[in-house]
Amino acid sequence: MTVPSFAAAAEGAATPVTFAPVPEALLRRLPKVDLHMHLSGTLRPATLAALAERYELPLPRPVGRLYQYRDFYDFIDVLRLGAQAVRTAADFERMAYEAIEDAAGSGARHLEMSFNPQYAMPMGVPYRVQLEGLVAGVEAARRDFDCSALLIAAIDRGLPLDSAEQALDDVLAQRHELVVGIGLDGPERAGPPAKLAPLFQRAGRAGLKRTAHVCEDNQTLAEAPPSNVHDCLTLMGCDRLDHGYNLLASDDGVRRAREHGVYFCTCGITSVTRNRERRLHSLQAMVQAGLPVTLNTDDPAMFHTSLTHTYVTVLDACGWGWAQARAFSLAGVEACWLDDAAKRELRARFERDIGLLEQEAAATRDRHPGA
Ligand SMILES: [Zn+2]
Repeated sequence: MTVPSFAAAAEGAATPVTFAPVPEALLRRLPKVDLHMHLSGTLRPATLAALAERYELPLPRPVGRLYQYRDFYDFIDVLRLGAQAVRTAADFERMAYEAIEDAAGSGARHLEMSFNPQYAMPMGVPYRVQLEGLVAGVEAARRDFDCSALLIAAIDRGLPLDSAEQALDDVLAQRHELVVGIGLDGPERAGPPAKLAPLFQRAGRAGLKRTAHVCEDNQTLAEAPPSNVHDCLTLMGCDRLDHGYNLLASDDGVRRAREHGVYFCTCGITSVTRNRERRLHSLQAMVQAGLPVTLNTDDPAMFHTSLTHTYVTVLDACGWGWAQARAFSLAGVEACWLDDAAKRELRARFERDIGLLEQEAAATRDRHPGA
């Protein structure tokens, strides 16, 4: 993918950044967190094709072009196909395990992965089966790849509210320490924050963390207005937010979000090719506006990206260097939903590992001045 360079615009940034390009190999080794990734979107094409064949689900096109979308809604259909193709505990385990394996290969050390309990309901797959498989995958991958993961039970706002209530009932009836929160995804125009507020308030009272997709740039300003950010915080009680780009249309909204300090879990790559340049401009503007921003992959396999590729793409396009890469890495730790002790430990580990990388880079520069 070719991306434009916004380096000239970045020179006016208030954010402390350096402009030397960071080698991809170094970014791969930078310890990273991914807080906004959908498990269905992590399915490798070969895995999805194998599962779809087993369950006799037709692919919309050959596997080689499976992840090439006509538009956002075509992408949502493929995402839902992915969800329908995962049915047994072993399927869920494979999906979680492979997601963590792929992310760890990109330098991830902690993940918070969304799954949609509603997607499995039409196939009669009980929540218990989903949970059993996901937990097994997370635990096996933690042993194999030294990468921790938590789970977020996401509600699709495009599906009927009674299935959302059922999903939350299941999460609460079968509490598990790895399922720390609920999320909200799907087309934003299908469910404004007020519609989901009672459900989210119930989740909050039960001690679950809350996040929601909001102000995504595949929606118009009428479908996903900047005021939705305020509503997610005040009506739904969200602890952090996913995306947030349309907020930039409101200076007052940006100011209020900055004062609130809520983290936006942004994604550098989008399913809609024509939106990619705009997405990168938005990300740059959000950082320059002083909003707390983390960098994530959304649907890495289905968007042909990885954490490293996302970091490379965003840093190159925005003219940012190591300082911003480091800032994204540590922001991911601050925004994560690990408990206080685990977060302290992760932060210390990141600071130590980043320090070692910086020492190594400095030593290389000393040995090869001008390199
Ligand atoms: Zn998302």
